[in-house]
Amino acid sequence: MALPLSFEFFPPKTPEGAAKLRAARQRLYAARPQFCSVTYGAGGSTQEGTLATVAEILAEGMDAAAHFSCIGATRERVRAQLAELQRMGVKRLVALRGDLPSGYGLGGEFTYARDLVAFIRAEFGAAFHIEVAAYPEMHPQARSPQADLQAFADKVRAGADGAITQYFFNTDAYFRFVDDAYALGVEVPIVPGIMPITNATQLMRFSDACGAEIPRWIRLRLQGYGDDVASIRAFGLDVVTDLCDQLRTAGVPGLHFYTMNQAEPTLAILQRLGMIGE
Ligand code: FAD
Repeated sequence: MALPLSFEFFPPKTPEGAAKLRAARQRLYAARPQFCSVTYGAGGSTQEGTLATVAEILAEGMDAAAHFSCIGATRERVRAQLAELQRMGVKRLVALRGDLPSGYGLGGEFTYARDLVAFIRAEFGAAFHIEVAAYPEMHPQARSPQADLQAFADKVRAGADGAITQYFFNTDAYFRFVDDAYALGVEVPIVPGIMPITNATQLMRFSDACGAEIPRWIRLRLQGYGDDVASIRAFGLDVVTDLCDQLRTAGVPGLHFYTMNQAEPTLAILQRLGMIGE
C-alpha cells in the first residue's frame, strides 16, 4: 500500500496569494494526498482565512483538516466554531493549544490541547477525526522531555486518533519519541512532519522559535552557501529526501509535509523518492 501523504498550508493573506496557493494545490494533488490541512492563527488573526481555505479544499474534492487552537478561547466560542466546521462538512481537525500573540493575556477556558481534545469528544462525539501535535525534540515550554512525553500521552488518551510531529532532522529523536510514547500506552499513528529546506534564514528563524534542532553540520553547510539559493535548494533536497527515505524504510505511518504553500519543494522530494512520476 502507498505511504499516506498529507500537505499543510497556511491561509493566504492576499487574493494573489490565494491564487498561487490554488495553483500549488492542483500540482500537489497529483501526489494523491490523504488530506490537506490548513493552519489556524491563534488570537484570531487568520481564523476566517482558515475557514475559507478549508472550504476551497473541500470544494476541490479533497479531504481537509482544519487546525484549531484553543488558547484564550471560551467554551461557548469553541463550541460555535466547531459547529460551523461541522456544517461546512469538515471531518478532520488538528487540535492544538496554540500560542497567544504577545500582548494578549490569558483568561481563556482551555489551558492545554488535552482540554480541547476532551471537550471535542464530550460535545461532538466521534464527529471529527482528531490529530494532535507531537514534539520529538521537546516542546520549547516543557519542563523536561519526560514531562512533555507524559503530557503528549495524556493528550492522546483524551481522545486523539493520531499525531503529527514538529519537523526534525534527527531521525533518532523521532524513533526514540515513538518508542517511549508507545511504552506509555500510546497506540495511535505518530506521523513525522517534514520541512523541505528552501530558505536557510527562514528555516533557522523557525527552528529557533519552535525548538527543532538543525544539526550543526547542516547549519554550517547552509551558512556556507550564503546567498547561493540554488545550492541551498540542491543540498536541502538531498538532506530531506534522505530523511524521508530513512523514515519510509523504518515503516512510518505516513509523511506530513509543511509545504509553506509551495508545490515544487515537496514534489521534488516525492519525485526523488519515486512516489510520483517525473
Ligand atoms: P499542548 O499539547 O497543550 O502543550 C503545550 C505545552 O504545555 C507543552 O510544553 C507541554 O509539555 C505542556 N503541557 C501539556 N499538558 C500539561 C500539563 N498537564 N501540565 C504541565 N504542562 C503541560 N500553532 C498555531 O498557532 N496554529 C497552527 O495551526 C499550528 N499547527 C501546528 C501543527 C503541528 C503539527 C504542530 C507540531 C504545531 C502546530 N502549531 C500551530 C504550534 C503549536 O500551537 C505550539 O507548539 C503551541 O505552543 C503548543 O500547542 P500544543 O497543541 O502542542 O500544546
